[in-house]
Amino acid sequence: MKACLLRSPARVETNPLDFTDMPDPVPQGDQVLVRVAACGVCRTDLHVVEGELPPRKSPVIPGHQVVGRIEKLGPKVSRLQVGDRVGIPWLHRTDGVCDYCRAGKENLCDNPTFTGYVVDGGYAEYTLAPEGFVYPIPEGLTDLHAAPLLCAGIIGFRSLRLSGIEAGGKLGIYGFGAAAHLAIQVARHWNVSVYAMTRDARHQKLALEMGAVWAGGTVDEPPAKLDAAVVFAPAGEIVPAALKALKKGGTVALGGIHMSPIPPLDYNLLYHERVLRSVANNTRQDGEDFLRLAVEIPIHTETEVFPLRDANRALNSLKNDAIRGAAVLKVEGE
Ligand SMILES: [Zn+2]
Ligand SMILES: [Zn+2]
Repeated sequence: MKACLLRSPARVETNPLDFTDMPDPVPQGDQVLVRVAACGVCRTDLHVVEGELPPRKSPVIPGHQVVGRIEKLGPKVSRLQVGDRVGIPWLHRTDGVCDYCRAGKENLCDNPTFTGYVVDGGYAEYTLAPEGFVYPIPEGLTDLHAAPLLCAGIIGFRSLRLSGIEAGGKLGIYGFGAAAHLAIQVARHWNVSVYAMTRDARHQKLALEMGAVWAGGTVDEPPAKLDAAVVFAPAGEIVPAALKALKKGGTVALGGIHMSPIPPLDYNLLYHERVLRSVANNTRQDGEDFLRLAVEIPIHTETEVFPLRDANRALNSLKNDAIRGAAVLKVEGE
């Protein structure tokens, strides 16, 4: 098969992904072999490729927003069939037995594996996943439009949930990339007013087009106090600005897996029961709930499509804020 292989982490400007031939993977045990149709490009891929996340497998094939059809079944697969269309997310597998898994918090599992990081992912023509951790993709979503829902969409949704935003409230969204452009559609569906803070003028424009009541720079103060905020941009200096924009008792949820250091905080920014929390991975329940909602709303995904061989170019565009919505690799038909 063709695949984009990361031999060792390096700045994306050096085009570190090698478009190369690899052996087709063979499904074992409960794994299904998926012929990849599309794979979303996530900011986490950028952190993997540039080594901000310490390597867990090297070399590795990145990519954890995979949509494709099952082509082969491992000997222990019982529920899924050849030809089923499925999505493969970041949470590749959990141990199912640790305290967190048993408490329904599998997103915090002590022994998780992650797609495109701990095991090979979807920047390839084929990939493997355990049948218990893939999602059936609802009818009515194309491969290219479904792929970004699998991380950007689900994590955005979980971030909204953890922010505690309620119908009719005022929500700040910091950074307006793939996750934000999906989360705003959920927030609008809940009748929430969205204030978008993002450094790139093109992203401010997109936010307004998608129904934000106001858009400004990353650390600009919005014209109204916020009930909650979600920070998608990986820049720690946003945290004090987001806390400052918040009403008493409000929550700032940090949606990224990596963030530059947060500067020292004046305690007054946090006092009055403001809450600062991170968002880590997602449970399968989050994924199922979100995909159902995505069809119900229905969510529209803005995509910029790149061929698999151009994954380096997609990552460079993402790093330069040049993607409108979500970047997606079109794999089938390469
Ligand atoms: Zn566990
Ligand atoms: Zn992701």
